Amino acid sequence: MLNDGFKEQGLRQQLVKEIIKKGIKSSKVIDAIAKIPRHMFMDSAFVNFAYVDKAFPIGSGQTISQPYTVAFQTELLDIKRGDKVLEIGTGSGYQTAILLEVGAKVFSIERQRELFLKAQQFLPKMGYNPQFFLGDGYIGKPTYGPFDKILITAGAPSVPEKLIEQLKVGGLMVIPLGEKTQIMIRLTKLEDGSLKEERFEEFSFVPMLKGTALDK
Ligand code: SAH
Repeated sequence: MLNDGFKEQGLRQQLVKEIIKKGIKSSKVIDAIAKIPRHMFMDSAFVNFAYVDKAFPIGSGQTISQPYTVAFQTELLDIKRGDKVLEIGTGSGYQTAILLEVGAKVFSIERQRELFLKAQQFLPKMGYNPQFFLGDGYIGKPTYGPFDKILITAGAPSVPEKLIEQLKVGGLMVIPLGEKTQIMIRLTKLEDGSLKEERFEEFSFVPMLKGTALDK
């Protein structure tokens, strides 16, 4: 396992300053970014860029999300200790670790078998223990729900209906909505089952795809 030395810690502090400058305010989120060694979640070809505020390839045609994006989505979720969170798109597991660090109980689904297996091996070694699932995020995990919060970490062309059903009343769902680029949306499920929608800034994600990819 890679070492978390003074160099990495110093670079991480710089990254923290950068995301604060970009507008992240939640101290829980900032502390999580400051604590988690992002370089350990990266593909070996890109470790030297771990503290650059950008997305990088992690294999299977996917990316580890940009730290600012991870922080932005986590802040919108407004996690309270013990919240049950369904995450769509485990990927490298970096966002999963951030959610656990801010106190969530995490259920994470990944459709790419290789990434699912890698995260399932790696995260527990780092002390992070979400429930991992290989499957299609469009279907969610009805038997484990309902969830306090739902987070989609891939660009969704539309709001997945089945996920709305798995959200508690008063629950929040954060979705990057759109095909080529995405608008960050936050939905709140109201008492009567209807949804309140808030729109935030534009981001760029890999697409949320249907079905499960069993081989690479
Ligand atoms: N949050 C992760 C991954 C971001 S990339 C990180 O920062 O590392 C988005 C991930 O969503 C990819 O790993 C992709 O394979 C996965 N994905 C895309 N469509 C999906 C679906 N329908 N169900 C589950 N995972 C999906």
